[in-house]
Amino acid sequence: MPIADLFAEKKLVLSYELFPPKTTKGEAALYEQVTQLMEYSPDFVTCTYGAGGSSRHRTLDIINQVKQRFQLPVASHLTCVGSTREDLRDYLSRALRQGVDYIVALRGDPPQGAQEFKQIDGGLSYASELVGLIHEEFPQFDVLVAGYPETHREAVSPAADLQNLKRKVDAGADAVVTQLFYDNQDFFRFRDQCTALGIKVPIIPGILPVTSLQQIQRITSLCGARLPLELASRLSSNDSSQWQFDVGVDWAIRQTQQLIDAEVPGLHFYVLNQSPATVKIIAETQLSQLRQAM
Ligand code: FAD
Repeated sequence: MPIADLFAEKKLVLSYELFPPKTTKGEAALYEQVTQLMEYSPDFVTCTYGAGGSSRHRTLDIINQVKQRFQLPVASHLTCVGSTREDLRDYLSRALRQGVDYIVALRGDPPQGAQEFKQIDGGLSYASELVGLIHEEFPQFDVLVAGYPETHREAVSPAADLQNLKRKVDAGADAVVTQLFYDNQDFFRFRDQCTALGIKVPIIPGILPVTSLQQIQRITSLCGARLPLELASRLSSNDSSQWQFDVGVDWAIRQTQQLIDAEVPGLHFYVLNQSPATVKIIAETQLSQLRQAM
């Protein structure tokens, strides 16, 4: 189903993001977790595209399996890192043959050890160029792009970053999925700024429930998202894993319910291949009733 129709039809679109496990044991465990997550009938599932290259070929394998086993639309993430236009076309052709529905089009982070992103010979510099390539040469795919409520860490200014998002939408993106954030005010401000710029496609908040302080500190240090002081201090007051899970999930429940109350068009959960946190959040917010009513 085209993304525009999905958002027109559903009151609240639900999606999950997975990553390719490194081992066959990890892959078997992933399908068990996805089975739990299916209880709330997500509208689509996405799978990340490995930054370093090693897991890239696994992205299509995983979403192919998810589509076959669970019969729902799937999206492959795709980045410009280390790929020529020809490589990107090859990947997109394979994705098309395998029945992938959507592409999450990204520039990608600089490869490990590199300070900045460098366009390779015959490659692309920005996600907006990848969106343009897909839109022109692979119009069968609907496209999602990344948005940054707290501004992308390399952007020269918040205004320039928003202009970049507008460029991606003007190049043909059908929806925006945001980077994770823990203060909804950052999202609401971002959403208002997008509206003021004339961005009309759905803007879907990305939610990553915290289940471990150590893990979230590593993730936020990489992506530049801010961990609110109140959340950080509650997490650090007790290092038992059950406490960290309870505090993180409780925060995410309140965050998610407030987003639902603010009538966001959808919610994208970074599930990190685990079901318990996301299942609890859905069960304890209005999301569960909304999904059952559909
Ligand atoms: P872009 O939109 O190209 O922006 C990159 C930077 O360049 C920004 O600072 C922007 O403001 C600036 N910029 C853009 N155009 C111009 C211009 N014309 N002139 C000057 N500056 C410009 N990474 C992965 O490796 N694999 C994944 O699967 C993956 N999935 C992700 C999913 C989501 C929902 C999100 C939010 C991020 C994901 N990432 C993934 C991380 C992403 O690759 C990084 O955040 C990356 O640094 C930026 O990618 P982008 O697509 O936002 O880049």
